[in-house]
Amino acid sequence: PFLISCQPTQNVDTSIYMDAKLPVDKRVEALLGQMTLKEKIGQMDMVTVWDREAIFKNGYYDFGAWLADLEPEESNQLQKLSEQTRLKIPYLIGMDAAHGYAMLTGRTVFPTSISMAATFNRELVLRTTTKAGEEIRSAGTHWAFAPCIDIVQDARWGRTGETYGEDPFLTSELVKEAVRGYQGNEDPLKRVAVSVKHLVGGGASVGGCNHASAELSERALRSYFLPPFKAAIEAGCMTIMPGHNDIAGVPVHASKWLLTDLIKKEYDFKGFFISDMGDVGNLAASLHQVAENQKEAIRMSINAGLDMHMYSADSMRFVAPLIELVQEKKVSQERIDDAVRRILKIKFELGLFENRYVSPEKDNYGSKENKDLALEAAREAIVLLKNKQQILPLDKNKYKKILVTGPNADNQSILGDWSIFQPDDHVTTILEGIQTLASPEQSITYSNSGRIKAKKSDLSVNTTDPAIQQRLITEGGGISDYSINDAVKKAKQADLAVVAIGGYGIRTEWGLRTYGESADRPSIDFYGRQLELVQAIYKTGTPIVIVIINGKPLNNEWITENIATIVDVWEPGMYGGQALAEILFGEVNPSGKLPITIPKHAGQIPMYYYQRPSRYWTGYGLGSSRADDKPAFCFGHGLSYSTYEYSDLKVDSLIPANKDIEVTFTLKNTGKMAGKETALLFVRDCVSSVVTPVASLKGFDKVSLEPGEAKEIRITIPYAELGLWNENLEYVVEPGKFNLMIGRSVEDIRIKKDFYVN
Ligand code: BGC
Repeated sequence: PFLISCQPTQNVDTSIYMDAKLPVDKRVEALLGQMTLKEKIGQMDMVTVWDREAIFKNGYYDFGAWLADLEPEESNQLQKLSEQTRLKIPYLIGMDAAHGYAMLTGRTVFPTSISMAATFNRELVLRTTTKAGEEIRSAGTHWAFAPCIDIVQDARWGRTGETYGEDPFLTSELVKEAVRGYQGNEDPLKRVAVSVKHLVGGGASVGGCNHASAELSERALRSYFLPPFKAAIEAGCMTIMPGHNDIAGVPVHASKWLLTDLIKKEYDFKGFFISDMGDVGNLAASLHQVAENQKEAIRMSINAGLDMHMYSADSMRFVAPLIELVQEKKVSQERIDDAVRRILKIKFELGLFENRYVSPEKDNYGSKENKDLALEAAREAIVLLKNKQQILPLDKNKYKKILVTGPNADNQSILGDWSIFQPDDHVTTILEGIQTLASPEQSITYSNSGRIKAKKSDLSVNTTDPAIQQRLITEGGGISDYSINDAVKKAKQADLAVVAIGGYGIRTEWGLRTYGESADRPSIDFYGRQLELVQAIYKTGTPIVIVIINGKPLNNEWITENIATIVDVWEPGMYGGQALAEILFGEVNPSGKLPITIPKHAGQIPMYYYQRPSRYWTGYGLGSSRADDKPAFCFGHGLSYSTYEYSDLKVDSLIPANKDIEVTFTLKNTGKMAGKETALLFVRDCVSSVVTPVASLKGFDKVSLEPGEAKEIRITIPYAELGLWNENLEYVVEPGKFNLMIGRSVEDIRIKKDFYVN
């Protein structure tokens, strides 16, 4: 099929496109004007490094990008192939380096996105993504398939940990920082293109199943799911990845409305779309079946607005059919040129034509500065859920003998998804953190609980591979009678038991994960015999601190009711164990807050705080106690060792049209320990032409306060943030009354006032 392509011209004029001093647009046009159809379509193809043998056999190297996790030397070798092509266009190398290049050994593993969202700290997101970007680029990779900005409304979705949680405003604020961090480095050779993903609605798919349909109206999309994408585009995001799912029957990969009309035209997106893995083919395969065959699937997606195709073992599955489609006039030459322009533009902007190779000796991974930053972020990401008996911070004189146990006590689950196993000395487990920070007078014992093992009834709703299902049931040990008895015996001799439970998401053990991509679960309870282990230790009467490590909300009602002390560490990265120990021993005051609601059980799903008032029976977010069916822990919840006082709220009572709303209030640390507090500002539109949520986050600020210190906080709500999508799907701010509510969480509002909009 390749023979049908146009005849290449051997004469290449590099004078313009290789001149780094000329403007990017000029260079793009000079190069595009010399490209054959086959070369153009080659640029629209991303191949994977795992298929390299098959690709090398073809002897054809004219594609645009590689999906690859590579050490610097390997990426240089790959780039050499680009120099064997006529135009010598460098490859883009992309990978899911989602929280540092954790898919390679020895890199700094920062907390995952759900953990970073729990910090509610914009500046930390900026710094961690900047440093992660530098490490990625210095390894020869130029493109991170991150951040994932799906809004999660279903806690069963295995990919929740990849996201910033449930809230559109928080996600929008953080993605802007991430785009700046990855792409905005002052040094262009330290920049990394982002791919925000997955457009759109994957976090509200039917049953929380990865790939499944999202039955979302245009109003829901525009109100809750699209704002983070709009924010990312306004921040200049270079690429976007459509999701596996369909929206009310139209697969995103074939949606001209979404890709072209909305994102490229209405939002003025100047970057390019990269398909998700295999998702062009999925239009024809069993996943969607909206196309007869691969060629038809390519026609649909490229005409919808897709620019680059991910994954094609021999590249002929994409390149050859698309050449035919152009020749048959089923895809226009203009559409191809548009896609290639967008791709080349990013390659020029990243400085690839001048710098396709990296110097391995300059690879800056694992610097002390970056590791310190990973620890700093982990400290702010940990959420203290419950501290009823004030066991924390631990009194080292009272708790002399501490048992550490539970299936996550001494493993690398703290690294989270999109990580491989790292060398032991690269990770501080929970056990190691506690051992290191304990005083010489304390003794730490360990009881190995085995690992988390799912029961058959817990199995993923969309992992159909029988081999994987079997491995989940039979492999990995699980919590045994022996391990429970051992923990009980040691708990009886201890003053305190720290029990680390939760889930397991390391990529290296794809088939044994309890969450992560394509490891969705019908339940949000703890898998295997974890409850049994906790209850057995509880019966000894020894005080317990529960530590939960997981990439999505998990809850067990018995544990939440009966255990006085619970810490949710999410996926805090390489130094999660140290950060946790610092919090347990009171060296650090916890300041993380929940970026996502933790429901009591799966039956409450969908359980997110910005629901409409008609769901009155939960009472959630309404600030009332009229119902007891509230979640286990609400959005924004997170305790501190200090107490904070909110006062002196000021806001104009009448806001003229188009004027931003200036809000000021005083925040005081009334406790005995220095701390950081995130103030959350919610708004409710009291009477609106369409039903609006009981509360919507419209501002937040995290401040450091010494004991007794008070600060004036100033938050500006942009006027446009008060709008809604009316019945005609026009975005309008409707005059009338609004409630302003500020506090520690959506359920712990400390100061309120109303204002009116003209
Ligand atoms: C995931 C994407 C990811 C891609 C490449 C897909 O299965 O859905 O999020 O970027 O694989 O690894």
